[in-house]
Amino acid sequence: MQNIGHYINGAHVNAKGARLHDIYDPNTGAVQRRVELAGADTLDKAVKSATKAQRIWAQTNPQRRARVMFDYKVLVEKHTEELAELLSSEHGKVVADSRGDVMRGIDVIEFACGIPQGQKGEHTYGAGPEIDVYSMRKPLGVVAGITPFNFPAMIPMWMFGMAIATGNACIIKPSEKDPSVPMRLAELFVEAGGPEGLLNVVNGDKEMVDAILAHPVIKAVSFVGSSDIAQYVYGGATATGKRAQCMGGAKNHGIIMPDANMEQAAKDILGAAYGSAGERCMALPVVVPVGEGTAEKFLEAFMPKLKAMRVGVSSDAEADYGPVVTAAHKKRVESMIDQAVAEGATVLADGRGFTLQGYEDGFFIGPTLLDNVTPDMETYKEEIFGPVLQIVRAKTFEEAVALPSEHQYGNGVAIFTQNGRAAREFADRVEVGMVGINVPIPVPVAYHSFGGWKRSAFGDANQYGNEGLRFYTKVKTVTQRWPEGETEDSAFIIPRF
Ligand code: NAD
Repeated sequence: MQNIGHYINGAHVNAKGARLHDIYDPNTGAVQRRVELAGADTLDKAVKSATKAQRIWAQTNPQRRARVMFDYKVLVEKHTEELAELLSSEHGKVVADSRGDVMRGIDVIEFACGIPQGQKGEHTYGAGPEIDVYSMRKPLGVVAGITPFNFPAMIPMWMFGMAIATGNACIIKPSEKDPSVPMRLAELFVEAGGPEGLLNVVNGDKEMVDAILAHPVIKAVSFVGSSDIAQYVYGGATATGKRAQCMGGAKNHGIIMPDANMEQAAKDILGAAYGSAGERCMALPVVVPVGEGTAEKFLEAFMPKLKAMRVGVSSDAEADYGPVVTAAHKKRVESMIDQAVAEGATVLADGRGFTLQGYEDGFFIGPTLLDNVTPDMETYKEEIFGPVLQIVRAKTFEEAVALPSEHQYGNGVAIFTQNGRAAREFADRVEVGMVGINVPIPVPVAYHSFGGWKRSAFGDANQYGNEGLRFYTKVKTVTQRWPEGETEDSAFIIPRF
C-alpha cells in the first residue's frame, strides 16, 4: 500500500518513524493509502528549503513571477480531469463537484497572474518641498497554509496562489483525510517551471500544526477548517507574532420570502443543501420560509425534487452526491439527526441507515429533511456538515433577518425574493459576511474576496482577491528628498537655470 510522505524542495521525502494515518475510499469504506503524520523535524526541512528559494524569488521581477503563475494555470487546467478523479477518490464528492473544486482554485491562480498590476505601490510626487513619497508591498518571507478536507484543490490554491505570486514561499499542511491532490498540485508547480522549494507540502495532524505555530521563521498562517481549531490556530499564530487569517465553520440560512419564485428556489436549495453531501462551508443547511403558508408552498415544490435525488458513488456521472468523507463523520451526522429528532424536529425525509447496493460499507447518508426546527435546538446551533436540511419557520421579515444575524456563525446567507427593496434591506442589515440574492451559494469570484463574520472567521483579512494580496505583503513607505548638491555628478545631471 502507498505511503504518502511530504513534498519538499521539489522531491518526495519520507519522515523516519512517522505515525501513519489511514486514507479511505469513502465509496467502499476500504483503506486505500496511508499518509505520514510528521512533526517539527520535517517542517524544519521544508522551512529551510523555502527560505532559500524565497530569497531569489523575492528578487524576481513581478512580470516573471506572473509568467510562472500563468504557466502553472495552464498546466493545472490540462490536469483538471486527473486531479478531479484523484480528489473524488479520497473525498467522495462526485467528479463534477471535484472539477468545480479545481476550477475555483484555478480562478485564483488566474487572478494572481495580474500581480504586476496588483502589487504596484503608491507614489506622491511633491508631498513636501522637494519631497516625494512612495510605498512598496514587500513579501513576508515564508508563510504557511493549513487546509480542510472539503476543498483539497481550491483552498490550497487560494493560499499558495496569492502567497507565491506576491513573492513569498509557501508551505501547505493539507487535511490528513485527503492529502493527495495538494501533493500533486505542488509537483505540477515545479513541472510548470516554479522554483523548487517555493511550494512545499508537509503532512501531519495537530503535532505538525503546533510546529507551524511555533516556528520562528514562518511569518503568516492562513487556516481554513472548523471554528474551535480556527480560533486555536489564530491564538497560537498571533501569540508568536505571525499574521493570521483563520476561517471557521458555518451554518448558512436560505430565506424564502412569500413572493419567491418557488420552483427556482426549491431547485437552488436542493443543490446547495445536499450537493457534495452537504460538506461545504457555503452549503445551505437551513431554510427559513417567511410568513403564513410559505413553508407549504416551498415543500410542494421541493419534495418531488428531493425524492428524485440520486445518491451514488463518486464516479457516477448521474449521481447528485456521493458518500461523506469518513465512517466517523457518517456516525456523527447520523447521531445529530437522532438528536434533532429527540429535540422535537419533524422528520420529512430520513437518510439514516441508507445503503447503496454493492457499496454497503461506503459512507453514504440519504438526503434528510427536518421540519419545525427552532432556534433553541442544539442541532440548529451547531454545524452538521452532512446532507441534512433544517426548516425553521419565521413569521416575519424581521425574524428572518434576526435568525442568521444572531447565529454564532456568519459565513454565508441567501434570500429568495422578487422584491428588490426587501432584498436590498436584507443584504444591508444581515450580520453575515457573504450574501446571495437569488443566488444560493454566494462564493465571491476570485477578484473579490472570501470571508465570513463572527465564529466563521478569526483575523481581519479575507482570503484571495485584494485582501489576499494585502495579507501576504507588508507595506514599506519611503519619504525621500534630494537636496541640491555640490558634487560634480549632480551638477552634470541637473541643469542649472
Ligand atoms: P478541521 O478543523 O477538522 O481540520 C482543518 C485542519 O486543521 C486540518 O488540516 C487538520 O489536520 C487540522 N487539525 C485538526 N485537528 C486539529 C487540532 N486539534 N489542532 C490543530 N490542528 C488540527 O476541519 P475539516 O473537518 O477538515 O473541514 C471541515 C470544516 O471546515 C467545517 O467546519 C467547514 O465549515 C470548515 N470550512 C470552512 C471554510 C471557510 O472558508 N469558512 C471553508 C471550508 C471548510
